[in-house]
Amino acid sequence: MRAYDIIQDKKVGKKLSEEALSFLINGYMTNQIPDYQMSAFLMAVYFKGMDEEETAWLTKTMVASGGTINLSSITGLTVDKHSTGGVGDKTSLVLLPLMAACDLKVSKLSGRGLGHTGGTIDKLESIPGFQVDIDMNSLLRQVNDIGLAISGQSKNLVPADKLLYALRDVTATVDSLPLIASSIMSKKIASGAEYILLDVKVGSGAFMKDVSHAVELGERMIRIGESFNRKVSVVLTNMSEPLGYAVGNSLEVVESIHTLQGKGPKDLEELCLTLNAAMLQLTGKINDLEDGINESRKLLSSFAPLEKFKAFVEAQKGDLAYVNDPGLFARAKHAYTIKSHRSGYIQSLDAEKIGLCALATGAGRETKTSSIDYRAGIILNKKVGDPVQTGDSLATIFTNKDDLENDLIKSFHDTVTYSDHHVSKNQIIIGLVDNKGFSDMRK
Ligand code: URA
Repeated sequence: MRAYDIIQDKKVGKKLSEEALSFLINGYMTNQIPDYQMSAFLMAVYFKGMDEEETAWLTKTMVASGGTINLSSITGLTVDKHSTGGVGDKTSLVLLPLMAACDLKVSKLSGRGLGHTGGTIDKLESIPGFQVDIDMNSLLRQVNDIGLAISGQSKNLVPADKLLYALRDVTATVDSLPLIASSIMSKKIASGAEYILLDVKVGSGAFMKDVSHAVELGERMIRIGESFNRKVSVVLTNMSEPLGYAVGNSLEVVESIHTLQGKGPKDLEELCLTLNAAMLQLTGKINDLEDGINESRKLLSSFAPLEKFKAFVEAQKGDLAYVNDPGLFARAKHAYTIKSHRSGYIQSLDAEKIGLCALATGAGRETKTSSIDYRAGIILNKKVGDPVQTGDSLATIFTNKDDLENDLIKSFHDTVTYSDHHVSKNQIIIGLVDNKGFSDMRK
């Protein structure tokens, strides 16, 4: 077998065999296939696609490139959740304690942020003392004891994805449906949970810009899950503006704690309640999604998920004083208020541009090795659909960097558009994809 022939076959749209895909991935992992051939292959996949069977085979060979996690020592239903990434996306910090409070066993490996989106691990590390590197035995024990553990991604889990993702990032081949599906699902399969909930973001701040492609991606990932005997449900959610009001690590932790205290932003709360209900439905704990949402709301107001979050922070050596009193989180040196230049309604707040503005404050990483400032970021004061008067505060920008005031204020203004007429608020939940198809939930 030769890499050249496999690239040629994909270039003309032929279906590849399981052996061919395995040859290619294994050859790449062992440096027998160079970056330039793998890049040509990725571009051929980008243009010609892959069918369901090929995507499942690619996923299988990627899973086999490293170790897998065995969760069989955990008592109860093991669950995992993944988001395709967005700006202000602190969902895991609220949703996972909610799931654990439903007696589900949550074992999650999370990533760090790169570029305009943040990572859960960075957010958790903004809690002083919090340990993200926990060994496998401690992780399993913690999940059995309190129902929830989150650890940084292990190096040995799907190493093929790490290499391929880095190559896709520099060859303009990230936004390919079969490549995204196999990348996400290989990590979820290797992480071991039986039930997997996927939050697929749609909109300007997401990989998936439109609903029909997001439905196709969701369906593809469900089929891959089935081929590995895993149950997968997909919720499509809006990422055209940031989620909640806070963007930046400790700012998002504070907003998550407020949400667990029942004082969070409506979009974040609705998202977490719906995702939890989808997981309750997937695991067979409830039949009807609406019932699941109502049950989840009751549970949130009982503060049981807040108590789970505290137990989780304590187990991973975070300082609980910060959870009990979020006012203890240090503030950045500079706080710049962005004032509206005009009256009207907020028509759009570009999520990706706001993510890039937050990156410039120091809240994100420009390269894999750069350090981040946990205190930096943005608190929005207005969301899409809100009325504004000239001089109203649109947002506050927090940074420890000097001399950026004018640049940051200008780049924030570039994220906003206005209308003279009433604008509807964005609906956070777009719909649900399960093995029966797509249910549109837009009202
Ligand atoms: N998230 C992933 O893990 N992989 C992709 O390819 C895209 C989003």
